[in-house]
Amino acid sequence: MAPTWILIFSLLAGHYVEDPRYHTTQEVFAYLDSVARAFPEITRLETLAYTQRFHQPVLLLTVTDHPREVEPEPTLLFTGSIHAEELLGTEVLMAFLDSLLQGYGRNPLLTHAVDSLEIQVLPLWNVDGHDIVMSLQDTSWRKNLRDNDGDDELDLENRCDGVDLNRNFGYRWDAASPDTCSSYYRGPAPFSEPEAAGVRDLCERMHHILALHYHSPALSQGEIVYTPYSSTPEFPLFYDLAIGLAHHIPNDAGTGTYQALYGGEDPGKARNWQYATLGTFAYDVEICSYRVQVPGWEVDTIVNHNLQGLFWLLDRVLHGPALWLEVREAYTGRRVDPMEVTILELDTRPDMPRRSVREGSGFLYRFLDPGTYRVEVRPQWWLPPETLQVTVGTEGAHVVFEIPPKLNQPIVWPTVTRQGPVEVVWTNSIGMRQPIALYLVDASGRRLWGLERTLEPGGYHWTVPLASLPRGVYFLWFRTFPRRVDWNLYPPSFQASYKIVKLGGP
Ligand SMILES: [Zn+2]
Repeated sequence: MAPTWILIFSLLAGHYVEDPRYHTTQEVFAYLDSVARAFPEITRLETLAYTQRFHQPVLLLTVTDHPREVEPEPTLLFTGSIHAEELLGTEVLMAFLDSLLQGYGRNPLLTHAVDSLEIQVLPLWNVDGHDIVMSLQDTSWRKNLRDNDGDDELDLENRCDGVDLNRNFGYRWDAASPDTCSSYYRGPAPFSEPEAAGVRDLCERMHHILALHYHSPALSQGEIVYTPYSSTPEFPLFYDLAIGLAHHIPNDAGTGTYQALYGGEDPGKARNWQYATLGTFAYDVEICSYRVQVPGWEVDTIVNHNLQGLFWLLDRVLHGPALWLEVREAYTGRRVDPMEVTILELDTRPDMPRRSVREGSGFLYRFLDPGTYRVEVRPQWWLPPETLQVTVGTEGAHVVFEIPPKLNQPIVWPTVTRQGPVEVVWTNSIGMRQPIALYLVDASGRRLWGLERTLEPGGYHWTVPLASLPRGVYFLWFRTFPRRVDWNLYPPSFQASYKIVKLGGP
């Protein structure tokens, strides 16, 4: 309980937000600009959107090594102050950025994180709303500043301007409030607000594996980590992660930690849209136990508690358990984006979110519990899917899946005739020797005929003898290009392509 004189002093002094401990928009922007200049080799500053009302930039700072390249690295998103009056998220993320940048090259965990992850931080999402709060026009303003009635006035007192950006996302948007004067107004259409659409575009580009959105409790319970909705077999996984995070953030009272809660199918929220659309493990963290703003002298403690959770989370992502899957071309080493990667034990429901990868990364990361999984990879449209047996240990599994290089001249499949021989024409066009194998097998997989060679570049022509075979279904297997599958072992294996040869009458 605070002494009475402090309460009186606070009332006389106005609002907590006047405390210089809280960053204004100008201060946040000046900081982002200065560190982008000071750390060009590990940062990238970009504008995701311009705000609805006053066209101010919504700035994202990415911290990673090689910030101007696409690398096979997990991508993470952290956002603060989507709700204008919930200022603490901005403070946590400003401190988080500072830790990463100052700790790079000094602190082993943070250095590893910057080198191995792509960490995207949006410390101040609702820029126009932030100005309303910080200028004391309305310290409990929540929405952005869309001019709902088009009268060119700022309708703050009746709250009839503005859209709740965290009701403007496309997940169950219909179920959110259509009342323009509500503080929870969903907006005229999903993603009608540039602040929300800019983050949607970022998410669709980056395919974040994880996202934290920082809030503070205006009315609801505080010191909570909320999961996204789920009715999928993956739920225990992302609930465990929420518990891990929550239990590493000490609560304000010093009596324990934050708690994890199932977040439900709340409409229009960023976290649910991210999970439903991209499979991102997206959480809302409600900072602080009892209110959206606290006196400036309490901020550092709350920030430091939340940093403990963030550092735990980085360590968890870096060390697994998880699956790191890279798909590459044999010989050239070029990264290939897989068409589809399905974990047969988990992705069992049609309502499971789609998993895809950041364009050009050739890389998929998935949180997994230790165990053995069947991972079906459809590498490219021109190759059949293959199922890998992957054992995930406590440190996870790193799998490299190699596919044949795209040939200048593709494999020419045989012309099949009923009685005559099958002709196989093939060109080694990759400019170096490569092993091939050509087999004729029956329906039970028994090899009836075959040849194995290591061949110089050039054109080849083989005849597969079929004349003496009884009627039936046969498979012609053509194998080339060593494929390496690494997890604990490195079993040499061959990439297989096949064509069904059907002989006999209908
Ligand atoms: Zn909020």
